[in-house]
Amino acid sequence: MLNIVLFGPPGAGKGTQSEKLIEKYQLNHISTGDLFRKHLSEGTELGKKAQKFMDDGFLVPDEVVIGMVEDKIKSETDAKGFIFDGFPRTVKQAEALDNVLKATDTPISGMIALEVPFEELKKRLLERGKISGRVDDQSEEKINNRIQVYLDETLPVSEYYKQQSKFNGINGVGSIDSIFEKISAVIENF
Ligand code: AMP
Repeated sequence: MLNIVLFGPPGAGKGTQSEKLIEKYQLNHISTGDLFRKHLSEGTELGKKAQKFMDDGFLVPDEVVIGMVEDKIKSETDAKGFIFDGFPRTVKQAEALDNVLKATDTPISGMIALEVPFEELKKRLLERGKISGRVDDQSEEKINNRIQVYLDETLPVSEYYKQQSKFNGINGVGSIDSIFEKISAVIENF
């Protein structure tokens, strides 16, 4: 079983690369951002809990995120593996994920971290905001906040996987296909 954590700041290209990886390796996709946006559009209780955090670019509390991911993993019993996109975003989430996977005896194979300079991220997110209509992509202030949250709360997650010798950094600037090739080469060694 191939379980991949696709890691990186907002705008690094995780969603784009996930789509290609899912197809190539036949993995199930767990994007916590997409799951929250689905809850929001359906007006569920969980969506209501998450909305304010998301709109302002803060993290949704760990217990809400972890419960949602746990349910999703447990409901997809026929998966050949998972690609985790935008999760884990805190060390507490990473520990919870390891615990859930321990129960199924299918640990994380490795982390792939897309590395992109912050000026490039800001440019990409403002461009995406014009097309996607995502509230959190609409202003430089919100984008700066999300990058700051990434630095403060999410970056330590890469240390967590470094300690397990599962960290793989990839330059996330370049063509979609060239980055995909680099990611695939890393995965072949998992
Ligand atoms: P994304 O689509 O991954 O950029 O996520 C959009 C927003 O959803 C984030 O800014 C957070 O508010 C929330 N979110 C997504 N994934 C997580 C997570 N793993 N932990 C906490 N909040 C999350």
